[in-house]
Amino acid sequence: MNGVGSAGRPLRVAVVGAGPAGFYTLGHLFRCPDLHLEVDLFERLPAPFGLVRYGVAPDHPKDKSVARVFERIAGDARLRFFGNVEYGRDLVLDDLQAHYHQVVFATGAQQERALDVPGESLTGSHSAAAFVAWYNGHPDYAQCRFDLGVRDVAVVGAGNVALDVARLLCRTPAELEQTDIAAHALEALRQSRVRNVYLLARRGPAQAAFTPREIRELGELPGAQVSALREDLLLDPAVPGDADSDAARNVACVQGYANAAPRGDGRRVTLRFFVSPTALLGSAGKVTGVRLARNAPRVNPDGSVQVTSTDAQETLPAGLVFRAVGYRGEPLAGVPFDRQRGTIENQRGRVTDAGKVLAGLYTAGWIKRGPSGVIGTNKTCARDTVECMLEDLSLARHLQPASPDPRAMDDLIAARVAGVVRYSDWRAIDAAEVRAGEAVGRPRVKFTDVAAMLAVLGRDPGGRAS
Ligand code: NAP
Repeated sequence: MNGVGSAGRPLRVAVVGAGPAGFYTLGHLFRCPDLHLEVDLFERLPAPFGLVRYGVAPDHPKDKSVARVFERIAGDARLRFFGNVEYGRDLVLDDLQAHYHQVVFATGAQQERALDVPGESLTGSHSAAAFVAWYNGHPDYAQCRFDLGVRDVAVVGAGNVALDVARLLCRTPAELEQTDIAAHALEALRQSRVRNVYLLARRGPAQAAFTPREIRELGELPGAQVSALREDLLLDPAVPGDADSDAARNVACVQGYANAAPRGDGRRVTLRFFVSPTALLGSAGKVTGVRLARNAPRVNPDGSVQVTSTDAQETLPAGLVFRAVGYRGEPLAGVPFDRQRGTIENQRGRVTDAGKVLAGLYTAGWIKRGPSGVIGTNKTCARDTVECMLEDLSLARHLQPASPDPRAMDDLIAARVAGVVRYSDWRAIDAAEVRAGEAVGRPRVKFTDVAAMLAVLGRDPGGRAS
């Protein structure tokens, strides 16, 4: 065979985005027997691993250990890593189409979603996405400021991100010091005066998006007590039938919190259900509270539960409000985007334009299917995409690059990006972070700006090459 994918004509693949979906895509490709391939992985930041580094909560080191799997994949000789190279700025679609047979977009979903209520732009109203990226040391968010001098905080949403935010706000400094939380966040949380965290769910515990492990973990915090209001729980119309289901476990856990006797004088997390913010209240431009409408549940014929707002209102004090109501993907230059869903338009991972498949273009992960599931969900998602890629390859449905020589891409990048970070460079940055951590008894101290990462390599952070 001397077609694309043979020893004489390796399949050339570009993967854009070095997060879990990008790495799982590579893992599946590298496991294909008899496929000769060369893969270039492009990442906007100098550091790989996306959500594992910048999204997973720092007090969840086990969830981060998947990075070791990605490190093994990165060691494959068929892979070249190009960090600090941004699609849309340093590279455009034409460039990728000119150099590769197949291109996979795996750029994730980092944009916040809005609540669309009055007062959302008051100072002190933030997206959880920004807070998470800030405490994880994401360079784009290192300059953010969160006023942790307030007493009351409201977190809107009932997903795992809402729980991450509530939990991190309640961890003690001693607990946080054991993690790789960004140094600026550690310092700010050390000074925190937050006492009350309200988690605001528009539906009931049986419909919550959080998972049993995470809601249980909230009750295990040494420095905080969790409570729930019994009257909220009485509203729940749908008691899950299967006692082993996540919904049933969530309900049982929350009921336990509602029945627990108050103890201690530590921080308090109050879970509220069947409430929706109708406005953020403020004074002198700063958020001071949340007006809530109580919701009435309605069970649909298919068993799903919807809510409608009632006239019953209440007001909660809050000097900080975090919207943890999900993420959205961002459009990529030249790639068809489904604005409704916030994803690249695609069928099973094949990029489409108004329903028509665009040969050679693929997508995987959150930018393909939306922000759902755990890190491992991206493995199955990437497998589906790779199946499409292989099927199309067998039918010779791929791009016809004019410059398939790997050196041509080296030249192009060298001409455009002064501070390109190769995988060996990343390992030097990684080692420097770990060394800095050892000096202060922490797993690592993250660099939170790109210039500091490039300085480790002795590179001038002076921007693009052209
Ligand atoms: P999510 O799981 O989709 O949860 C979003 C929450 O926001 C839902 O409770 C939703 O309620 C609520 N919501 C949406 N719009 C709202 C509105 N206008 N007003 C009030 N509430 C609203 O999203 P996420 O928490 O951002 O998590 C994203 C993904 O990452 C999830 O798959 C999550 O499991 C995963 N993750 C996992 C972990 C972990 O494994 N430890 C940690 C973090 C994130 P409705 O259900 O009523 O729409």
